[in-house]
Amino acid sequence: MMWITLWLVLSAAVLLALSLLPTRKIIRVQEQQGWGWRILYVLVLFFIPAYLLYAWLLTTRIVESTDIIVAFIFFGGSVFVNLVTRLSLISIQHIQHIAALERHHALHDDLTNLPNRSLLYERIEQLVVTTKRSEREFSVLIMDLDQFKEINDTLGHLCGDRLLQQVAPCLRQAVRESDTVARLGGDEFAVLLPDTGIQGAINLSQKILEAMDSPFVVEGHHLKVGISIGITVFPQHGLDCETLLQRADVAMYVAKRGNLGYSIYNAEHDQYTLNRLTLFGNLHQAMQAQQLELYYQPIVDIQTQRVWGVEALTRWPHAELGFIAPVDFIPLAEQSGNIRYLTQWVINTAIQQIQQWRQRNISMQVSINLSVKDIQDEQFASQIIATLREADIDTSLLTFEITEGSMMTDSERAHKTIKELHDSGISIAIDDFGTGFSSLSYLKQLPTQHIKIDKSFIMDMLEDDNDAIIVRSTIDLAHNMGRKVIAEGVNQQDILDLLEILRCNYAQGFHICPPLPAHKLNDWLADPKTLWKSA
Ligand code: C2E
Ligand code: MG
Ligand code: MG
Repeated sequence: MMWITLWLVLSAAVLLALSLLPTRKIIRVQEQQGWGWRILYVLVLFFIPAYLLYAWLLTTRIVESTDIIVAFIFFGGSVFVNLVTRLSLISIQHIQHIAALERHHALHDDLTNLPNRSLLYERIEQLVVTTKRSEREFSVLIMDLDQFKEINDTLGHLCGDRLLQQVAPCLRQAVRESDTVARLGGDEFAVLLPDTGIQGAINLSQKILEAMDSPFVVEGHHLKVGISIGITVFPQHGLDCETLLQRADVAMYVAKRGNLGYSIYNAEHDQYTLNRLTLFGNLHQAMQAQQLELYYQPIVDIQTQRVWGVEALTRWPHAELGFIAPVDFIPLAEQSGNIRYLTQWVINTAIQQIQQWRQRNISMQVSINLSVKDIQDEQFASQIIATLREADIDTSLLTFEITEGSMMTDSERAHKTIKELHDSGISIAIDDFGTGFSSLSYLKQLPTQHIKIDKSFIMDMLEDDNDAIIVRSTIDLAHNMGRKVIAEGVNQQDILDLLEILRCNYAQGFHICPPLPAHKLNDWLADPKTLWKSA
């Protein structure tokens, strides 16, 4: 009996000793809140020698039945303490792990696993404090991919995501371990370079541009994406996180517009973005106040020397900023959800113009540009067809121009819209052909009548043999598939002559006539000096 009692008491002391380590770990994790565990720790420390003393006493006298009961209580208590400390440690560690994951999740981007905007802010704010103290510099780079929207629209979001997942490590490899590469959202990234001035930031920008020069292979597509980088340096360009990022964004916008690769912030740029920001709100007002104007640029039949039609192009004369180019406000309209109203306005205005021309016995094709958002709208086709019917407009007078990129959107909805429009008698033209990734054989499946070769190929075809080859083969292929070809950007007679030799059907460009408001176009059509016969 003595041995059992002794074994129980000694085991109880050992179990208590084994609960010291987990208790210490819990105290370390809980820091200030761990006072309860500290009391337990002291109690355990006190009880171990007490148990040992009791065990020694048992060896010096006869063991009674009460001793064995006490020994069982000691043993049970120690098992309980041991279990409580161990299980508590496991659950505290589990909670800690979840908290760490959540923090990582909150501060990192899911797609690329790069730090997100919040973590970048945190790190910039820390650097502002430490760099100010040491009177040194640091740089912030903001960058944006150049053709990302087209890739997303053309090849789908999944492909866009895969591309971003490849761009992220490419950027990471270009920088040092101590630098931060963050994803701000969409196709926008940022790099934070501690202890780096303007020259260092320029060197890195060049390195990134070089790294991005080789194409990324995504789902079998070789995608070449450009990148535009805006640079700000602390303290020259800003003393706080918000200013540094905002000005880097301004510089990035300047780099993008000027196709510069990278650009360092300059106070003169500010006016520029201020305009860009205010434009967002102004566009809606301008549409409501009927301040937009529709211009028409003639498209001529090269063989018959007749005016075949006009392309309707929206103009926004702004009270303070002068004429704002469509390349600046169309993307704004797309982003702000105003594009459907804009397209509706263009169509209504064009309908009124067609009616006016009809009264004067002028019958011309009117081409209208559609945005990818329009053709993805399920109601679009039926609404337009109803409007045309109501206005008693012959649908064969209308051509909708859809860019190559938006044609390729794999959404069934887009294809359905195109088909519905086509079935109602409206012609479809593929705009800016050659700038996307589509092939003519793919486009053959779509009901299109016209292919508009992008002006970048036409304008350079006299100097650049490659462009001339592209134009020539596009015309041949399109003809073989029964499509007519329109060349845009015809800005000199030599180009027109060459297009005639290549048997291109239609031409549009400043050499023939720039886009004009309706009354001026009427004058141009009636002018005996105009070489092109009126429709
Ligand atoms: P786009 O549809 O490819 O239109 C042709 C553009 O080329 C027009 O630019 C026209 O002014 C320009 N252009 C024509 N001939 C020449 C030339 O000989 N030389 C040069 N350098 N340019 C020439 P614009 O009016 O600035 O429009 C740019 C783009 O904005 C259009 O490209 C079109 O995609 C879009 N856009 C314009 N108006 C609308 C609209 O009402 N709705 C939509 N969704 N897009 C529009
Ligand atoms: Mg067009
Ligand atoms: Mg075009």
